[in-house]
Amino acid sequence: MDQKENKETLSAEEISARCRENLEKAIAAVKKALPGMTLLENEPMERHSSFKIGGPVRALAVPEDVSSLSRLCSILKDNHIAPMMLGNGTNVLFPDEGLPELFIVSTEKLQKLFLLPDGAIYAEAGVSLSKLASFAQQNGLAGLEFASGIPGTVGGGTIMNAGAYGGELKDVIESVVLLYAPDQRLYELSNEQCAFSYRTSLFKKMGGCLILSVVFRLAAGDGEAISAKMRELNERRRDKQPLDLPSAGSAFKRPEGHYAAALIDEAGLKGYTVGGAQVSEKHAGFVINIGGATSHDVYDLLMHVRNTVYREKGVQLEPEIILLPPEYRLEDHGPAVRGNFITFNGAPEDESGETDA
Ligand SMILES: Cc1cc2nc3c(=O)[nH]c(=O)nc-3n(C[C@H](O)[C@H](O)[C@H](O)COP(=O)(O)OP(=O)(O)OC[C@H]3O[C@@H](n4cnc5c(N)ncnc54)[C@H](O)[C@@H]3O)c2cc1C
Repeated sequence: MDQKENKETLSAEEISARCRENLEKAIAAVKKALPGMTLLENEPMERHSSFKIGGPVRALAVPEDVSSLSRLCSILKDNHIAPMMLGNGTNVLFPDEGLPELFIVSTEKLQKLFLLPDGAIYAEAGVSLSKLASFAQQNGLAGLEFASGIPGTVGGGTIMNAGAYGGELKDVIESVVLLYAPDQRLYELSNEQCAFSYRTSLFKKMGGCLILSVVFRLAAGDGEAISAKMRELNERRRDKQPLDLPSAGSAFKRPEGHYAAALIDEAGLKGYTVGGAQVSEKHAGFVINIGGATSHDVYDLLMHVRNTVYREKGVQLEPEIILLPPEYRLEDHGPAVRGNFITFNGAPEDESGETDA
């Protein structure tokens, strides 16, 4: 049966059944090959999302290190499963219905963080941006002050090119090491190759790129001044943002020439509520979970805000929050990565001289 015929004859239900069959085989193989690895089955995603929303995902694995992550991904590939990576879950909305066809890999335990001999910072994907910014401050390195209040990780922040108060991660990233799921190879990409732009990157556009670590190049600075700047920005954040309630940060991207929060406010939508989801009174750019919000409450609210702002202000808002599905479909790989192919032995070393794999 050729591919075309195959596509025409398989119904959506049959494709779904095949995906689930592959997933069950993959889970069994992972349990056998990596018995010590944390593997949560039918795990409610509300536990892993800053929105506190989301039904069960079929499997969520937490590899101990880069080496077990790469073994895990190889098993998944052998079973035709493309995993989704998860950092701190601060920019994702998971569906109430759950994701029975998805295998999630958490970077929670990828926590190596150290100075390289040339003064750059090496951080694994699971390091929080606040820990990274503090580490830079402690070493008298300036340029990450803007990131100290962003609740995501190095991996999630790099995909999103996270930014605040005039700074973006693209300004300080020197290079990124990733595992490309389709060919299971490691690549090291320079800043330019990552194609960063406002809240996006090559990785976000193409999928299949599992970020393992990032090297940051910062400027020498005064520790006290860096600390004062971080305190000032975090105070501004606490003053302006509804940090006491679950959210996923700014719901919409900043449209060219406008501010999303101002447009939403001017359209009279502050406090607009659907079920447990509300446009924050404190900051109109945030959608907050005021208690028991479902993903459908949030979708409906986002749609209403988008339509109203378009009608009233003539500006089309685009969500910044990643709405699942359909972003992650099993076996949905983008084009090949362009970068420098490296081997596991070429991965950066930590202070003890240990390699990552
Ligand atoms: C209160 C609040 C304030 C916020 N303020 C800001 C702000 O000022 N500026 C800003 O830019 N954002 C902000 N955010 C949004 C969010 O924190 C950032 O987008 C952050 O970078 C997401 O990181 P994460 O680790 O939580 O990613 P996640 O939400 O876990 O994942 C986001 C995306 O990245 C992918 N991903 C995660 N890790 C990896 C990896 N290692 N390899 C490949 N893909 C990966 C996921 O698959 C997903 O597609 C805020 C959020 C909250 C809740």
